[in-house]
Amino acid sequence: MAPLMKILVPVKRVVDYNIKIRIKSDGSGVELANVKMSMNPFDEIAVEEALRQKEAGKATEVVVVSIGPQQATETLRTALAMGADRGILVKTDGPVEPLAVAKILKGVVAEEGPGLVILGKQAIDDDSNQTGQMLAALTGAGQGTFASKVVVGDGSVEVTREVDGGLQTVRLKLPAIVTADLRLNEPRYASLPNIMKAKKKPIAEKTPADYGVDVAPRLKVLKTTEPGGRKAGVKVKSVSELVQKLHDEAGVI
Ligand code: AMP
Repeated sequence: MAPLMKILVPVKRVVDYNIKIRIKSDGSGVELANVKMSMNPFDEIAVEEALRQKEAGKATEVVVVSIGPQQATETLRTALAMGADRGILVKTDGPVEPLAVAKILKGVVAEEGPGLVILGKQAIDDDSNQTGQMLAALTGAGQGTFASKVVVGDGSVEVTREVDGGLQTVRLKLPAIVTADLRLNEPRYASLPNIMKAKKKPIAEKTPADYGVDVAPRLKVLKTTEPGGRKAGVKVKSVSELVQKLHDEAGVI
């Protein structure tokens, strides 16, 4: 018998992955004004996984939560249009660091009591890869990170993890924390009727104070810089010239 449980999926609003990132002229961070924002791609995979578990009869409800500005409601609506049941917006003004996100999520977990929390393995804006691990530490739940397969059993979950050079399978007691890797699934697109239906689904509004969390940053960003540009290439006329350049100029052979 599968447990009748709720699945919680934290979804972050980030700069769309197709956008070429620009740095603010004063180097203080990434330019966000008038930039297309979307759901973090790994969170789409996490939502998809939660929906598949529900469709397989392993879960009763999929709740999505986003911590961010009012516009993060759009990210929640996207998840609701994919099929999630309801949303929670924890409204904040500025960026929130992973530790504060994890503390807020701990509060949401205490309130909602999910059997499984499925996060993305990392948010593609800051590439922190910390929130799921921190949430596991704060709640005392087991963690299965970089998941490429999730099998929910009776009171436990088996998570196959993508580790260096292979796959590792761990069994965790429920409630557990899972973070989704790229190969877990291919997220669905929301259909038009589901986008319409999502407009009527409930989104509760909260603040970090509701969970007793201070979101003041603990880290100071000293500077943000663009990656160095690539140098122009050269065409070689023969294999011997290539070998000579690799030897004399590149120093790789
Ligand atoms: P990170 O540790 O920042 O790389 O993020 C890992 C995962 O934590 C993301 O894929 C999301 O599932 C979740 N997460 C991080 N920040 C937020 C946020 N502000 N709101 C909701 N979920 C978040």
